[in-house]
Amino acid sequence: MNDSYQHKGLRRNLVEEVRNKGIEDERVLEAIFKVPRHLFMDTGFVKYAYKDQAFPIGCGQTISQPYTVAFQTQLLDVRKHSKVLEVGTGSGYQTAVLCELGAKVYTIERQRELYIKAQSFLQSIGYKATFFYGDGYEGKPSYGPFDRILVTAGAGEIPEKLKSQLKTGGVMVIPVGDSNCQVMTRIVRKGEDEFDFTEHGRFVFVPLVKGKEG
Ligand code: SAH
Repeated sequence: MNDSYQHKGLRRNLVEEVRNKGIEDERVLEAIFKVPRHLFMDTGFVKYAYKDQAFPIGCGQTISQPYTVAFQTQLLDVRKHSKVLEVGTGSGYQTAVLCELGAKVYTIERQRELYIKAQSFLQSIGYKATFFYGDGYEGKPSYGPFDRILVTAGAGEIPEKLKSQLKTGGVMVIPVGDSNCQVMTRIVRKGEDEFDFTEHGRFVFVPLVKGKEG
């Protein structure tokens, strides 16, 4: 794995940038420091890896901006051994950040090419997660219920099936809105039919799309 002192230095700067933008959770900042983001991008684009911006990863999708990854992760409030369902594997970068926090991660991607690439790449650099090719709208009922659910694509509405796969006391973080802008929404399941909702600012994600794509 090519992760040099220079890369680590760039990551240290990225962590400070993300901290200055308001991320306070030291565990999340440490995870951003540990994950070699440049390895998630094609070699020609390495110089963009430690800028705080989203970047195309093929198939019309993006690797999320590090600040956004840190913000969602902080809101999710992951604990060691938390059982986490991620919808939208994409590059697998967010998956790796969740693994660094000690979570047991299940992740779903609807595009076969991204699913295959992320699964083999994360395995090759030593992250253990469970990967699924499928429609994240459906969640993964046979593996649930989950302590945490993280959706990394913009949803038109909150999928009922995901809510139902949350443990009591569990937390879901999901950007909700139209294709131009989504509100980061945090949902806490208080009881069988009781959910608390809070809103945490506006973001722009690629859309959550129903069904899977070959
Ligand atoms: N977490 C990713 C972000 C990827 S962008 C990263 O760190 O790189 C969002 C991803 O969600 C895209 O790869 C897209 O294909 C995927 N996606 C969109 N709708 C989906 C659905 N219904 N089920 C699973 N994945 C979905």
